[in-house]
Amino acid sequence: MPHRTETDSRKLLRKLRDEMSLANPGQERLDRITTIITESMGVDVCSIYLFRDPDTLELCATEGLRPESVHQTRLRLGEGLVGKVARLARPVNTANAPAEQGFRYMPETGEEVFTSFLGVPVQRLGERLGVLVVQAKEPRLYSEDEVYGLEVVAMVIAEMTELGAFTGEGTSFATPHQNPAMLRGVTAQEGEAEGQVWLHQPRVVITNLVNDDSRAELVRLNTAVETLRVSIDQLLATAGGSRDKEHMEVLQTYRMFAHSRGWMKRMEEDIRLGLSAEAAVEKEQSAARARLERVPDAYLRDRLHDLDDLSNRLLRILTGQGNETGAEMPERPILVARNIGPGELLEYGRKLRGVVLEEGAVGSHATIVARALAIPLVINVPRITTEALNGDHILVDGTEGVVHLRPDDSISSAFRDKMAMQAKAQERYAILRDKPAQARCGTEIALKMNAGLLADLPSLPNSGADAVGLFRTELQFLVQDRMPKRSDLVANYARVLDAAAGRKVYFRTLDIGSDKVMPYMNRPDEPNPAMGWRALRVGLDKPGVLRMQLQALIRAAKGRALSVMFPLVATASEFTQAHDTLLREIERERRLGHPLPENLEVGAMLETPSLAYAPDSFFEAVDFISIGGNDLKQFFFAADRENELVRRRYDTLNVSFLTFLQVIVDRCHSARTDLSFCGEDAGRPIDALALAGIGITSLSMRPASIGPVKSLIRRANLIEVTELISRVQSRGLETARPALLDYVATLVD
Ligand code: PEP
Ligand code: MG
Repeated sequence: MPHRTETDSRKLLRKLRDEMSLANPGQERLDRITTIITESMGVDVCSIYLFRDPDTLELCATEGLRPESVHQTRLRLGEGLVGKVARLARPVNTANAPAEQGFRYMPETGEEVFTSFLGVPVQRLGERLGVLVVQAKEPRLYSEDEVYGLEVVAMVIAEMTELGAFTGEGTSFATPHQNPAMLRGVTAQEGEAEGQVWLHQPRVVITNLVNDDSRAELVRLNTAVETLRVSIDQLLATAGGSRDKEHMEVLQTYRMFAHSRGWMKRMEEDIRLGLSAEAAVEKEQSAARARLERVPDAYLRDRLHDLDDLSNRLLRILTGQGNETGAEMPERPILVARNIGPGELLEYGRKLRGVVLEEGAVGSHATIVARALAIPLVINVPRITTEALNGDHILVDGTEGVVHLRPDDSISSAFRDKMAMQAKAQERYAILRDKPAQARCGTEIALKMNAGLLADLPSLPNSGADAVGLFRTELQFLVQDRMPKRSDLVANYARVLDAAAGRKVYFRTLDIGSDKVMPYMNRPDEPNPAMGWRALRVGLDKPGVLRMQLQALIRAAKGRALSVMFPLVATASEFTQAHDTLLREIERERRLGHPLPENLEVGAMLETPSLAYAPDSFFEAVDFISIGGNDLKQFFFAADRENELVRRRYDTLNVSFLTFLQVIVDRCHSARTDLSFCGEDAGRPIDALALAGIGITSLSMRPASIGPVKSLIRRANLIEVTELISRVQSRGLETARPALLDYVATLVD
């Protein structure tokens, strides 16, 4: 095989482009391409294998192998050398194919006479589309230039596949972005939604793949890279004062990549071989995405993501396609993104029906915001940004953590039935709205709602909640990029109290640290942030923000009743200190002549087992205790609430945990202290029933959970539930859940 030159490569690409401009059927185009490549590269065989489904490659066109094998020969991902190329997403180059590990002989193709083999992946932005193979009788290894040249051709084929150039009669292979796909992720906010995909960062569409003038194209690339560098320098200069280490680190990585000689050299080489500047950027981006899938190290993966972002920026500069592609947001948008910041998500707000993220974390700010907005959210959905196109039909099952992309009719109708059933149930709950959560035995449970944004408050009157049992004040701090001023806080809290229209709001002071990190505050690197410097610990050590917040709460109350609780109190003395701080602020406000709350309730969140055993005097000193079940459970079982590997491992209805909660109930009872439970479990009907059964008569939950919980409590007899739990305890069982489920099944609807 002759040594290939830049001119050969350019000629080949131009021939491919010319071929594409003819209005031939898909199969004819594929056949022509294999002929052109065989002739141009001086090889005996050229074959194109494309994915028929995610696991099967099909020989779709060949020059040199037996024509009868086209659309007959199929390989599984990883099977034979072709399957190996697809699985590894990198070239396989061998002078002696039969001796190569993984070789599989396919007799129907007649390939036994061809010894040398070079296969390269056909992929676009990490999406596997197929494999391009050349073979020759002569036993020889292909040169680096040849491998590179074939990769460039594969890139063009990938783009053509993407643009649907090979669809039509006779081509039975899977066309990307047309088939249904079911993708599994992790539930971050329950609920179901149907709508159309709205990509947070729509892909750039490349129409010119091949260049006519390499020199002009190199100038275009260099100019665009220069613009990119300047824009990153500007970003760095603006962020210069930022204390957010992570943000600065990302920008510095951007700068490093933007000045990387290796990256530039590869793109320049692609252009010399005949690609357009944008095709060259995308080729390197695809290669980086393929690497990303193989890198197990989280830090390196992040850096490869940075390169991916940078490539997108460069593509936008080159194509002039900004974030705004002119597309109109669909009527029922489901946001699809790799990741999204809380502020950006808040900007979309309630317009969104659902959110699907490729990354994300259960405790991330975006998740917190999605929860506050009650938008179904599925995170950690692999490849969703690659698979989905703007406008695609999508079903989000937040409860199961599953996403159906371009679902077929049977899936859609089953999903709609499920949604309709839930809507019916909600209607039934709506009837209960003004009825008390009174069990058949006569005991009444106070149901309150959790909130964190002013936007949540309108749901208070409709939810049937008696009060806001937990107002997470940190959300206001998390969603903006600077520390809010006291006047901002006063205005916000006043509006919250106005909207609550006389119902109580239990304001929790700032609970930052651990998973909740404010970008503008210095954050120490901690080995174990959940058990680190967080919540009230920060408030007591650096009381500036806590004091400002307490002042704002007093001012916002403007003489109305005020309820304040402190998060993560671990010892009685921490509560005393916090309480004293509040009393000092009250005194200060009095001196300044501001009206004082007509009634003040001060409580502690019990989130560490230690506080359950605090002295009696503590239980007498607090006005109320609110159990933060999410944290309490993680510390009780030593199971990180953010860690997917362990977070579902222990049941709230585990008898040890229920027995421990009973200690808290007894202690509050003896001290006549009000007790409430405000973790997520309070919103799960069976769990709520158990909590009520052990004597917790106030539960605070997401507004959407109030109906289902109320409905179950009204049907149950709490005396029977209490007895049932005692029986489970005395029988030495590990969990009360099966017994409770059996009990609930006997209740009439
Ligand atoms: C809890 O820990 O249960 C709680 C309500 O607080 P957060 O979830 O905000 O930590
Ligand atoms: Mg907590």
